[in-house]
Amino acid sequence: MPENHLVNATVPTATIDPSPLQVSTDDTVQGVVEAMAMAVKTYALVYGGGALAGVFCYANVARATAELADFRQALAGQWMTPLSQLQPLSPSLAWPLALGALYPDQLHLSVIDQAHHWLGLLAPDGFYTLPCCVDAAAADHAELTACHYSVALFQQQQERLALAIKGAQMGTWDWDLSQGTIVISEEQERLLGLAPGEFDGSYDTLFAHLHNDDQATVRQALQQAIRLGQHYGIEFRVQHRDGHMRWLSSRGQVFKDGEHSPRLAGVTLDISEQKQVEAEIKLQSQRERLVTEIAQRIRRLLDLDSILEQTVASVREFIEADRVIVVQCEADMSGQVTQEACSSDYPPMLGWAMRDPWSVGEKFLAHYRAGRGLAVENIYSQNLPASHLGFLEYFQIQAEIVVPLLQDQTLWGLLIAHQCKAPRAWRMADVRLLQNLATQVGIAIQQAKMHRELTLANQRLRRMAYLDGLTQVANRRRLEQYLDQEWRRMSRESSSIALIMADIDCFKGFNDRYGHQVGDDCLRLVARALTRAAKRPGDLVSRYGGEEFVLVLPNTDLKGAETVAEDIRLLVRGHRIPHEASTVAKVVTMSLGVASALPAIGGSTASLIKQADEALYTAKNQGRDQVRVAPPLRSD
Ligand code: GH3
Ligand code: MG
Ligand code: MG
Repeated sequence: MPENHLVNATVPTATIDPSPLQVSTDDTVQGVVEAMAMAVKTYALVYGGGALAGVFCYANVARATAELADFRQALAGQWMTPLSQLQPLSPSLAWPLALGALYPDQLHLSVIDQAHHWLGLLAPDGFYTLPCCVDAAAADHAELTACHYSVALFQQQQERLALAIKGAQMGTWDWDLSQGTIVISEEQERLLGLAPGEFDGSYDTLFAHLHNDDQATVRQALQQAIRLGQHYGIEFRVQHRDGHMRWLSSRGQVFKDGEHSPRLAGVTLDISEQKQVEAEIKLQSQRERLVTEIAQRIRRLLDLDSILEQTVASVREFIEADRVIVVQCEADMSGQVTQEACSSDYPPMLGWAMRDPWSVGEKFLAHYRAGRGLAVENIYSQNLPASHLGFLEYFQIQAEIVVPLLQDQTLWGLLIAHQCKAPRAWRMADVRLLQNLATQVGIAIQQAKMHRELTLANQRLRRMAYLDGLTQVANRRRLEQYLDQEWRRMSRESSSIALIMADIDCFKGFNDRYGHQVGDDCLRLVARALTRAAKRPGDLVSRYGGEEFVLVLPNTDLKGAETVAEDIRLLVRGHRIPHEASTVAKVVTMSLGVASALPAIGGSTASLIKQADEALYTAKNQGRDQVRVAPPLRSD
């Protein structure tokens, strides 16, 4: 810009004298000249009666020198150029507002050149100079132009600074460290919660407005900055009279030069909103961490009851609700409270049918299915008919949040938080938490369901692996395993274990006569009879192979086992299953071999089986349909 160019070229030639020399009309001319020499000034402003009366400069000195023999007695008031005689030179040079703000107590500003020669007075209404200077000043128009631009530039800078400070809502302050006085801007007063002009300039007043907990930190930071001559930057709280608290940030520096007393000056900004956002972000991230933790805890659980129990407990603790429940819903949205965490101050809802007209009803189904929840601050402001309020009143529900628990687009249930003490304006974060958790719980429920199915399938598989498919009694693998296990147990308990080996008589003939399928039916019947005969919980009936069964009887001696065997024989016979092809009877009969052992003494499962088998062989040989007992096992 051309103007800037001009400014840059001419600025250094004229400026405002920031510390004009001031003398009195009653000072002697000699005194004034000496003061000018001392202050290295080419002029002095002469004051009389508390106001600027005139100017004393080299022209006045020259006139006095020419006309006075001795000017020790002559007074400056007589030899100065009175204000009235100054020549108004350029009304366009009236001082800018910014200068007025900077020198509020002065009606005239002295303009000097680079060599500190006095050029004239800048007043609110124009530029004034000595008559003798008119020609020179007019001749040196450039100098005045320079003054003009200097002032204009100054004005611009002041304006910019003032606007920037105002725009930034920044308070400024300036602490004269040797005088102990503090000057603060109006904005700074506002930041401290004071009325304009209220601040009395004292350090104590300034501190009185600081939050108690922050006073020590601020004091320390300022003292350190003063001691080390450094920058400081602090954040602190102020308590306004109306009770609300603001966060302020102040930055500043100690300024020291040879001429002026040291000062600490700086700016202050209101950072309350930023602090609030920071606090919210912090709170939000804390909450998110907690939600993740809760979700992880829930997801680790595999059974549904534990998942729901953990969910209601965590939610109640986390959002500080009076009651948190899970309602499991039917297709028509009727439902029952299946899980609850409830404050002891309010009636529990566990097991109750859910009859909350505000949250449960078919009209909400589509809303819930879309994964959306509901939150109400005050149930009683919902214009519900009085007939609907009974349930809510009974359980003292005043406010609630409801979020759906979904399983593949269908509504599985609802997760509900109640506030009973008073209405409650739920925070968005509370609703979000519940919604997040509901998603996690949905996944956990799915997982639990899968886990349950898997467990059942495994149980079925295990059963199948140990069961004989035809008769549904234990198979041979299970027999061997069980016999080993019980053998060891009986060894520890020093108790005896017995084995019965039972074989259907002439079964080949049975098959031949009635067919294989009827043979199968017969095997099933016999197995059931054996199961009925083996009464103790520890007894095991197994199919050893073909039409041969083995019973394991722990804690049973030979005599006891013989009795059981005889019972079996009679029971099977008593079934009166026709067997025309039998050489023994007209009905199905069994031969049984019994053996027993004391595992603590010795022997093995194999020897026990062998003994029972031998006894069975004897029974067969001696005519079938009988029980034979093996001799007791010798300890060797
Ligand atoms: P014994 O009195 O000496 O025991 O004569 P038995 O005919 O019963 O003995 P054997 O060992 O000669 O015949 C066993 C028969 O059992 C052979 C087979 O037909 C029959 N059997 C074995 N397993 C099954 C089965 O699973 N179902 C049917 N229906 N029959 C079976
Ligand atoms: Mg047989
Ligand atoms: Mg056989």
